[in-house]
Amino acid sequence: MTLLLPLSSGQWNPCTYARPFVQPRAVVEGTQDPQTIFDTVLEHCGVKADKNATFLVGERHRYIPNSEGGARHKLGAIENHRVKRVFFLGVDGSTVLLGIQIHPNDTEGYADLRRTVNHVDATDMQLLATCAGLASWHDNGAFCARCGARTQYSAGGWERQCLGCARIEYPRTDPSVIVAIHDDEDRLLVAHNAMWRPHYASLVAGFMEMGEAPEQAVQRETLEEVGLEVDRIEYVASQAWPFPRSLMLGYQARVVDGTSVEPVVDGVELDWARFYSRAEYEQAMRAGEVEAPGPISIARAMVRRWYGGPLPDEQ
Ligand SMILES: [Zn+2]
Repeated sequence: MTLLLPLSSGQWNPCTYARPFVQPRAVVEGTQDPQTIFDTVLEHCGVKADKNATFLVGERHRYIPNSEGGARHKLGAIENHRVKRVFFLGVDGSTVLLGIQIHPNDTEGYADLRRTVNHVDATDMQLLATCAGLASWHDNGAFCARCGARTQYSAGGWERQCLGCARIEYPRTDPSVIVAIHDDEDRLLVAHNAMWRPHYASLVAGFMEMGEAPEQAVQRETLEEVGLEVDRIEYVASQAWPFPRSLMLGYQARVVDGTSVEPVVDGVELDWARFYSRAEYEQAMRAGEVEAPGPISIARAMVRRWYGGPLPDEQ
């Protein structure tokens, strides 16, 4: 089955060449006519635009849905919100896309991007996630990592430039691995992190270390988190997870023949982990003993791939 990856299947033109020339903040604040942004996009990307849409994000992967539950707002409909930053996201057809980070004190009407996704298509989902990641990156990038001076936002929100040494910083992404671990009966391992709500369980995952290959990270994380040795490591799919800045590289792996298939957790980061057959997993979900990963996560997509179709909570 094809993996449904909501945050990796959007389609729009990011118009990267226009970023240095677009002044999205001026358009949002009304000091520049939207026509200027349309002309800039045409000049630098060759795309004729005559409409705009805005995406409103706040802290902690939240966004403000429109009155139909979708993600796009008209520029004129955002005047009740306090704007913190504006991003130029590109063009979808003839529509210029702007991301708006709302001031943290202005929280009315927010929804959680990771849970409420019913009326948002894959393109808008990915654009919202991009906005959320950019917002978080800016919030943590006020000072230069080289000289310590203040930095300022530039290139439509896709750069920060140091006011002291002129160094340019770009949005960062941290690669992580997530692994579907199987035993020789094709059971799947899911684990519970001590910080998660009680029955929520997902796949083993972790950040890659400096100088490490993803396959090595799969072996290291599996051994660290559940005490199992794995081989037959194969790449499955990837998905950005900009909450705040991860790229998830999805792998499957099998427990090494002749080694233990009893997971051993540290009791601190993970408090339980176990292998499930498909029948056991279905039964555990229906009994409320296990909650599957969230709807837009690659973890859910990988669990579905193993399960062979929609999970019991989607049926
Ligand atoms: Zn500097």
